[in-house]
Amino acid sequence: MNTKDMNTTKTDKPHIAFIGLGNMGAPMAENLLKAGYPLSVYDLSAEATERLQQAGASVADSPKDAARHAQIVISMLPAGKHVHSVYLGEGGSDGLLAELAKGTLVIDSSTIAAADARTVAEAASKLGIDFLDAPVSGGTGGAIAGTLTFIVGGEDTAFAKAEPILAVMGKNIFHAGEHGAGQVAKICNNMLLGILMAGTAEAINLGVKNGLDPKVLSDIMLQSSGRNWTLEVYNPYPQVMENVPSSNGYQGGFMSKLMQKDLNLAMQTAEDTQVETPMGAKATELYEAHAIENGDRDFSSIMARHDSSVLT
Ligand code: NAD
Repeated sequence: MNTKDMNTTKTDKPHIAFIGLGNMGAPMAENLLKAGYPLSVYDLSAEATERLQQAGASVADSPKDAARHAQIVISMLPAGKHVHSVYLGEGGSDGLLAELAKGTLVIDSSTIAAADARTVAEAASKLGIDFLDAPVSGGTGGAIAGTLTFIVGGEDTAFAKAEPILAVMGKNIFHAGEHGAGQVAKICNNMLLGILMAGTAEAINLGVKNGLDPKVLSDIMLQSSGRNWTLEVYNPYPQVMENVPSSNGYQGGFMSKLMQKDLNLAMQTAEDTQVETPMGAKATELYEAHAIENGDRDFSSIMARHDSSVLT
């Protein structure tokens, strides 16, 4: 056994393997630990695993090692190619799925294409493994507070098994439909979010350039018909709100390159199904250009498109 510091505390809770401990995965995994679930973790980054080791998790050397004692596997990876490589492996059938016991429940919370989620679900099903796509909404704040929204695609029985685990990390848990339905709902939401963030930044900039204080303007719009999630909890202008990426040099949070990825997923889905999305197309264009230099900054840094001084 390679797993270091294997947690041997006796509990009747299922053992969980958690793969991908970035801005979202780390706080989600921490909440599972706090709730008493035995947890083995794996990430390519040693820095990421160290944080979880300090919180009480067992650190594994590979996804297979993490899943050795697990009844449930949860992943929170950047994009479809990472999910594909972890579960299906480079050859398509030499990934983690091939190593799991029948009846294992796999919950992938990464935001990826619905088609990719269906591919993994199909491979899992052939091996007697339950797979759910369960992307989330709520940002890093929601991940830390355990108030995420989970948007799940997959079979009823697997959903019922997953619900109590998801309830530890989230507040609202939706069963959107069959495999892939969680991802479709998620990209609809994120296309809207990209449009709202770009629009909110644009409106604040218009006010500031016309002599308004960004906080006063934000308070006004928050109590008026322009109210939206970005004004409520994620204002893009520095120092209007505490504890948001815009007041912390746009570090942490949800990287612009991930928003760009989600908008591209939405555009691909729209094209495949011949649905018109002109506002989504504009937001995609804005984030494509913005991510060239600001890909690792939080997506609220789209504010810098109007006023580059916000980055300093
Ligand atoms: P992140 O880049 O901060 O974290 C991803 C982690 O996965 C990193 O620690 C990386 O080292 C690890 N990783 C990459 N490939 C790996 C592999 N093969 N094996 C093990 N670990 C691997 O990203 P994030 O912000 O945590 O986002 C994760 C997912 O959640 C993305 O799909 C994103 O679109 C989605 N999401 C993010 C937010 C947000 O606010 N950050 C909100 C909702 C959904």
